[in-house]
Order: sequence, then C-alpha cells, then structure tokens
Amino acid sequence: MLAAVCHGKKDLRIDTLADRALVAGEVRVAVAYGGICGSDLHYYHRGAVGDFAVREPLVLGHEISGTVIEAGPQVRGLAPGMKAALDPSRPCLACRYCRAGRGNLCVDMWFLGSAGRMPHSQGGFAQHLILRQDQVIPVPHDADLQLIAMAEPLSVALHAVNQAGALNGRRVIVTGSGPIGLLTARAARNAGAIEVICTDVEDAPLAVAIGSMGATGTLNVRSDPEGLARFAGDEAAFDVAFEASGSPDALASLFRVLRRGGRIVQVGMLPPGTAPVPVNLLQSRELDFIGAFRANGEFRLAVELLSRGAVDVAPLLSATYPLARAVEALELAGDRSRVIKLQLALSASAA
Ligand code: ZN
Repeated sequence: MLAAVCHGKKDLRIDTLADRALVAGEVRVAVAYGGICGSDLHYYHRGAVGDFAVREPLVLGHEISGTVIEAGPQVRGLAPGMKAALDPSRPCLACRYCRAGRGNLCVDMWFLGSAGRMPHSQGGFAQHLILRQDQVIPVPHDADLQLIAMAEPLSVALHAVNQAGALNGRRVIVTGSGPIGLLTARAARNAGAIEVICTDVEDAPLAVAIGSMGATGTLNVRSDPEGLARFAGDEAAFDVAFEASGSPDALASLFRVLRRGGRIVQVGMLPPGTAPVPVNLLQSRELDFIGAFRANGEFRLAVELLSRGAVDVAPLLSATYPLARAVEALELAGDRSRVIKLQLALSASAA
C-alpha cells in the first residue's frame, strides 16, 4: 500500500509500505480522506514541529476517515464495509491522566503522524492503517467521509470551548481564522456566545467566518492594525478570548481587550521558545490564561455533530487532491489567501 512519507525538510515521497497481520483488538481500515493540518505543513516545510524533528521516515496525517476492511481477534462491533471516523489519539488508558479522563495529556500517547517519540508514531496519509478498536467510531452508511474527516479539528475546537467554561451570553474573540479558529467560532456560537469576533491577516477566511461559521464581526489585523484597540476598556471588552493564530503578538494583544476576570484559551501553537505576555494585566485584572491541547471525549461529540449535520464544515473544504499529488497539495495548503482546508483522497475507493 502507498503512503505519503516525510523523509525530512521538503522531502515528501509516495512510498510503498508493507501491511502486517493484525493482533488482538486491532482493526485495519482503508483511509478515505485525510485533511492537511498545520503540523503536517511544519514537518514538510521545516522537517520539524516545535522541538520535534523528523529523525526517521514519518507518514504524515491525522485528520482522517475511512472504511473498515478487517477486524482482528477480540474486536467487537466493527465489521468490514463499515464507514468510520478515525481518532488519531491512542492514549495508554492506564496513566494517571488517562484514569482522570484527561487522555489528551497521556504520558504514553501514540498520536498519528507525530515525531514526538522514537520510533515515530506513523500517520494516516496511507491507503491502509491499523488502529486500536476504540479509535474506530462507526458512522452511518450515508455519511460523507470528507466531512467526517473534519472530526479531529472540530474536536480540538470543542475542547477549546470546554476549556473556556460556560459561554452562554458571553462576548468572545477568536484570533486566527484558520480551520481551528473558524471551528472554534462555530462551537462558541453553538455554546451560546452572543458575540464572536474573528480576526485574521487575510480577508478570505474572514468572509467564511461571517458567512458560514457564526461570527458576528470580523477584523483584518493586517489592514486595520489599530482595530483591536477599539475593544480595549471594560465597556467594549470580551469575556473570553481564543488564541488560534499561533502569533505571539496576537496573544499579547488579547490581555488588553478582555474584561476583568476574563479568560484566554490558548489553542494555537506558538513558535518554539518563549513568548512575552503582559503578566501585570493578568495579575491586576485576575485574568485566566489556560491551554487547550487536542481533545478527549470531544472527538466522539464531533463525530456525532458531523453525522447529524449539526455543524456544517463543508465551507472549510477548499479542494481534494489524490495521494499521488500530495507534494502539490502540501505546497498549496499554506496559501491562506486561497485555501482553508485541503484534503487528500487516499484509498482507491475514494479517489
Ligand atoms: Zn495515559
């Protein structure tokens, strides 16, 4: 079977990999679609994500959906032909964090397409993939697997919203209108936020934010760099901020537009190293500053919402490329003036 394998910076190859036999509790799936995420782009363009460098060939990809083709011994409830959402997280289920219901913080996590451990955790941009049975969540026969492949980014947004606390009647700002920022805006509105302002440096994603994702206002911080200042001061301030751009400047700016006692949720990944923030504002206004990393039970909620059509992610899907054109897709995926989310069609049935 074929897979998109990162061998280092700007070195992505379509390699032939061997299938192996299943052991107890494992399921083999044909991967239908795989969304290209910021981390895939970092591996491709820089050969690393944060401090994690590619040290051996790494199959990229973790936003995937597919069809069951083989159920191993002791697998229950899954049979060949079933369509499924595929959870890229495989936590150990045994460590103190897993036992506390916070498997996203697992100390022994296998997350698809990650160089965070050695050997690397191979990813889902492959025609076939072996997963633990709890990573395979069946969806209805008529489910659209392109939409189901958005379950992982939607789960990240849902987790960020859960980290924010109650949003009923709240005024919210989301910095960064990539897929995670846009889905966070949608999830915040669905959770009862009465105002959601989305920011970005490109106009195209802001048009999607206000047209399809529930934003009540937008701000292009490149063409209107003083725009955020209009929200400074308690009268105009936000209750909750989601930082989804990964920009240290965006993060620092949020401390000035939150009301006293407000909360900032950091869901974007900043560049490696440290970032300056105005700690005296955090101290004197009793702001909360909290992280949001991947997701837990939110993945199954995301699958449920997508299966029921309760969240429409179709406006985020910009184009689909066959696996053979993965390099072209990765080159295009970073052009935020033209692209929100690109997907690869991976198995033959999906191509
Ligand atoms: Zn664990």
